[in-house]
Amino acid sequence: MPRPGEPGTEAHSTSPTARPVRPAGAARAGARGAAGPLRRSGAPRVCVVTEVIDLTPRLRRVRFRSDDLIGVEPVSPAQRATIVLPAGGSFGPEGLDSAEYSAARRTRRTYTLCDLDPRTGTAAIDLVRHGTGVAGTWVERVRPGDDFVLSGPMGKFHLDPAQTHYVLIADETAVPALREICAQLPAGARAEVHVEVADEAERIDLPSPAELDVTWWLRSEHGGEVGELVGRLAPHLRTAGPGVTVWIGAEADSVTALRTHLLAEAGCDRRLLDAVAYWRRGRAES
Ligand SMILES: Cc1cc2nc3c(=O)[nH]c(=O)nc-3n(C[C@H](O)[C@H](O)[C@H](O)COP(=O)(O)OP(=O)(O)OC[C@H]3O[C@@H](n4cnc5c(N)ncnc54)[C@H](O)[C@@H]3O)c2cc1C
Repeated sequence: MPRPGEPGTEAHSTSPTARPVRPAGAARAGARGAAGPLRRSGAPRVCVVTEVIDLTPRLRRVRFRSDDLIGVEPVSPAQRATIVLPAGGSFGPEGLDSAEYSAARRTRRTYTLCDLDPRTGTAAIDLVRHGTGVAGTWVERVRPGDDFVLSGPMGKFHLDPAQTHYVLIADETAVPALREICAQLPAGARAEVHVEVADEAERIDLPSPAELDVTWWLRSEHGGEVGELVGRLAPHLRTAGPGVTVWIGAEADSVTALRTHLLAEAGCDRRLLDAVAYWRRGRAES
């Protein structure tokens, strides 16, 4: 996905409101088609879906495991992975050697890699159910036992323990990353947080050792297309300015509008600004 800033995304999570969609299936252990542990971040790994649950009506969690994720350590609080999805439920016994994977790998999608556990080789991705696209379609039919291919984790965003003031801004695609960043903020830090989601039902908990001041921008109240409210946040930012660390994950035009405001008008420090386009209106990721 083209973006103005260096990517930074991820999330581990708790999901107090999780609603099961289907019972957890008996996962086939391990990856198929991959020879032995692949510990490089960018290496493709066949993953088997173990559970699908709805965190909210529009955010669906897919848990999975792969032997090739055993020993793979998290790299960033907002780490991302790219996924390659089969047209049906599986790339078949040939896995990475299959003709279908060879063709499908040109159509990658980027997601925040959550709950990565190097001991068990398990992790999760939380997908917005936006109703179209390769991943948007896959998430509606994915079931335990299905497989897909993942490369990651990747990401350079890091939290500096010396920084005490933050502004964090996300639309729903960046809620998983936001959740993890909040969880890893240093105790004693303060963060002004703005989140755009569809409606009240999309709110999730954002546990944090830091002091959070969270504003939920609901499209059901304020109107606008998906992702637009973030682009109009400038007049509502209270603490953005010199010395404040700012992280944004949102639709590309909204990111550009906010970034321009923060650098040209709010006096934010370019080195403390991480503004990432998570998706682009009207354009598929690849
Ligand atoms: C670093 C990073 C981390 C990300 N993490 C997550 C994550 O954890 N969860 C998540 O859901 N997404 C995440 N995204 C965003 C995700 O990669 C995009 O939304 C992607 O376009 C989805 O692929 P798709 O196949 O569903 O749609 P595409 O085929 O890429 O796009 C098809 C159409 O859908 C539109 N579209 C794409 N996404 C949305 C959306 N959310 N709402 C409305 N319209 C949309 C496009 O503009 C296009 O018109 C992340 C992106 C980046 C760069």
